[in-house]
Amino acid sequence: MNSAALSKLRGLLGPGGVLTPSDDLSRYEQEWRGRYRSLALAVARPCTTGELSGLVEICAAHRIAMVPQGGNTGLVGGAVACGERRELIVSLERMRSIRSIDVDSASMTVEAGCTLEQAALAAHEAGLRLPLALASGGSATIGGVLATNAGGNETIRFGNARAMLLGLEAVFADGRVWSGLSSLRKDNSGYNLAQLLAGSEGTLAIITAATLALKPLARQREVIWLTVASPAAAVAVLRRARAALGETLTAFELMPALAIEFVLTHLGNARCPVDPGAGWHVLMDCESSVVGEWLREAVVKVLEEALSAGEVGDAAIAESRQQAEAFWLLRESISDAQAVGGLSLKHDISVPTAAMPAFIDSTLEELETVVSGLRPCVFGHVGDGNLHFNLTQPRSLSAEAFRALEPQINETVFARVLEAGGSIAAEHGIGLLRRDRLEELGDPVRLEKMRRIKRALDPGNLLNPGKIVRMEKGGSD
Ligand SMILES: Cc1cc2nc3c(=O)[nH]c(=O)nc-3n(C[C@H](O)[C@H](O)[C@H](O)COP(=O)(O)OP(=O)(O)OC[C@H]3O[C@@H](n4cnc5c(N)ncnc54)[C@H](O)[C@@H]3O)c2cc1C
Repeated sequence: MNSAALSKLRGLLGPGGVLTPSDDLSRYEQEWRGRYRSLALAVARPCTTGELSGLVEICAAHRIAMVPQGGNTGLVGGAVACGERRELIVSLERMRSIRSIDVDSASMTVEAGCTLEQAALAAHEAGLRLPLALASGGSATIGGVLATNAGGNETIRFGNARAMLLGLEAVFADGRVWSGLSSLRKDNSGYNLAQLLAGSEGTLAIITAATLALKPLARQREVIWLTVASPAAAVAVLRRARAALGETLTAFELMPALAIEFVLTHLGNARCPVDPGAGWHVLMDCESSVVGEWLREAVVKVLEEALSAGEVGDAAIAESRQQAEAFWLLRESISDAQAVGGLSLKHDISVPTAAMPAFIDSTLEELETVVSGLRPCVFGHVGDGNLHFNLTQPRSLSAEAFRALEPQINETVFARVLEAGGSIAAEHGIGLLRRDRLEELGDPVRLEKMRRIKRALDPGNLLNPGKIVRMEKGGSD
């Protein structure tokens, strides 16, 4: 790194504020899934918005590209420094305070480097709930979940991260700070910049703090594990549960028997509450913030009706909080457990829920002609249409041979997704992983407008260059 810029950054950020390759940078450079090899110029760790603003000004003056980083749990290569230019990783890890919690406005203002778990705990201690649950919540940060517009298990009820976003504080590419923190629910005074930055994956500005809307705590909760014969049966149960249980339906997750087999092997001492070999499994979570004891009765009624309609094979209701957590542990362990089966090719996609059963059947049938013996481990948030369309390597193929088929497999999956009116990037974002696919398959008008927005906010292409869209490709005004 240019020594003048380095010494200015060191002067600004003080001891521990800048880590260079002579320090151990592996925590920042190593990406969760190990798909990208990151080689950063250095890692800058500001403590305040003022320091971050000064840092961006120095980088702008020296034309140093920056990669904002939170918990580094992203799954699409968005937080890696491996662009054509060497880049500076800007870690928000030292900006992690809870600035305020406003019970009457049901909101909290939190710094970007605060973890999701830490923010949720603070809200809970104030008698409120931050309704975003990710398995990565212990490391994923508020800045990261907003920058990726993360979804999660409760999207069916509470929406993605952007649904919680009321106001933002952010540093733009010229170093100027936008102080847009606000707990207002109604503010139609022009373009909504906060929502523009949600899902922008660090390409338009660096988020330093956010005001988030909170919800009342749950007073009644029922967690149910059930088996269904097919995704179509799962959608029928979803329809029935929605009609009867309304907004109490908080999560509705579908898993195949193969996922349960992987998880039980992976965890060793876990137990499935029903026959693990049953074709498909559903984890349903229902919660109400209304005081009372009526939810159990309502849930049992839905289950009885679904059983007698032949939609459900078997069902178990968690009888304690520990049991509910044990049910969720099975679901949350699937991603890690898949390694038991060897290499998995993963697709974070969404399709309209109604189209999901036919999409799963027809895509798997077509894929069998591309590679026989494929072991599909398709699971996900059926309630919001998001599937992790993961495919585990056939027993007859080596990991290398399976990886070689990835382009053909992706082509088939993405073609079917678009045919079904879906998205090739449901909750994890685009980053580097799906950038070329977006450029190839995305709507050209939308792509052109996206590049214009990027150029307007970051004319020097210094913020996370090369992520989501490339500016040099078709990028002229
Ligand atoms: C086990 C596991 C489970 C997961 N489950 C889910 C899930 O259920 N749903 C889901 O949506 N995702 C999930 N993810 C993906 C990941 O946790 C989310 O994308 C999360 O939002 C990333 O947050 P982070 O702080 O780790 O961001 P990082 O990985 O550090 O960064 C992600 C992107 O955001 C940008 N960014 C980070 N901080 C800022 C900032 N302050 N300002 C501007 N840009 C910033 C980065 O440049 C990058 O493009 C999971 C990941 C793992 C490993």
